[in-house]
Amino acid sequence: MKFTDYQFDPKIKKGLEQLGFQRPTDIQYKSIPNILKGEDLLAIAQTGTGKTAAFAIPIIDMLYRKKQNQRRPDGVKCLVLAPTHELANQLNGVFKQIAQFTNIKTTALIGGVDQDPQISQLNKGVDIVIATPGRMFDLISQGHLLTHRIEILVLDEADHMLDLGFIKDIRDLIRKLPKRRQTLFFSATINNKIKKIAYSLVNQQAIRIQLSPKDPVAKNIDHSVVFVEMDHKRFFLERVINENPESKILVFVRTKVRAERVAKAMQRVNIPALTIHGDKDQSDRSKVLREFRNGKTNVLIATDVTARGIDIPDIEIVINYDLPEEAENYVHRVGRTGRGERRGDAYSFCAPEEQDTLDQIQTFLDKEIKVLELNKAEYDDTLKIERERKNDYQALMEEIEELEKRKKKKRKK
Ligand code: ADP
Ligand code: MG
Repeated sequence: MKFTDYQFDPKIKKGLEQLGFQRPTDIQYKSIPNILKGEDLLAIAQTGTGKTAAFAIPIIDMLYRKKQNQRRPDGVKCLVLAPTHELANQLNGVFKQIAQFTNIKTTALIGGVDQDPQISQLNKGVDIVIATPGRMFDLISQGHLLTHRIEILVLDEADHMLDLGFIKDIRDLIRKLPKRRQTLFFSATINNKIKKIAYSLVNQQAIRIQLSPKDPVAKNIDHSVVFVEMDHKRFFLERVINENPESKILVFVRTKVRAERVAKAMQRVNIPALTIHGDKDQSDRSKVLREFRNGKTNVLIATDVTARGIDIPDIEIVINYDLPEEAENYVHRVGRTGRGERRGDAYSFCAPEEQDTLDQIQTFLDKEIKVLELNKAEYDDTLKIERERKNDYQALMEEIEELEKRKKKKRKK
């Protein structure tokens, strides 16, 4: 089936054509008819399978049909919630592209940036809002974002949004929404507890679509684990980067401090690396992601803020420099590569003290991760780079000293 065979408005088909979308992916094929029928939906499909358009296309189509019969702007009709600023911006970009030939207006409401331009957007009239919870609540409580006409609520990365940190916000929000509404949950991972919470938030029994639940890791990702000592990780990172000089590489670390430290270690060996984490201000984060996206820098060191949802199709390698503490984040992190039809590689560096974390991840995946065996010679070879460099450095220092000595002698003469 092609998108041209659907009953969408020609303006929406034109938007899809511009995006180069010809055929729906599996999750799009399965979700779109249910969403158009107005059903509540819990949709689980692997990373990179096109979940964004699976909800964006039918939502834009439904709202566009209604809007053509309206004389006056009618307020915000759809609210999409996402966990991070970067993801909200990205989703907004997808909505905008699909709706570009229609009069459907979308905007992103995220924290960390001035709220005035967002307020003036809302005042001009917006149909679809993509938001992170904090800024959304600010704008609701100040009376700038009205919720009484919202017909559709989407939680992207739904399991994360319904997890401890956000669930109270979501319940508070739902109390402000009309009783008659459509609720859509999308994610690559979900567990039974969260599933129950999701069902408790919808009116009728939601439709469930779950694709390839057996293996949560997308099939076009080749992922393996390498056992290395904690102190040796940076040499292995250096090696992967040097062996793949043209590749776009995303590196995940456990903490913000480690992100900076690893970036410094790479810079010391002449590998330019950027960092992204929660301690940076929003303009910095946006700039870094832009530079990584457009290829100005090929190596990005990130914390889990970048684990979910981010779609940079040409990321070829993901490295778990540290294993993720939340097992499901393994799936999301490695899922930053192997997007759409592309293939990707992921390597996880596991130190002896991380064995428990690895076990938890494997329990979550319900299978063992392939081990990349390194024999002692290969392992030592990786560390040799460092020894050679130390020697080089030492030789260089000696040379400089020698030069200085000679200069002094000359001056004395
Ligand atoms: P998910 O949310 O499932 O991780 P995304 O919605 O971010 O995946 O989409 C992954 C990639 O697939 C994006 O680069 C997107 O442009 C592309 N894509 C989505 N739908 C289609 C389609 N029907 N045809 C071609 N490419 C698509
Ligand atoms: Mg997504």
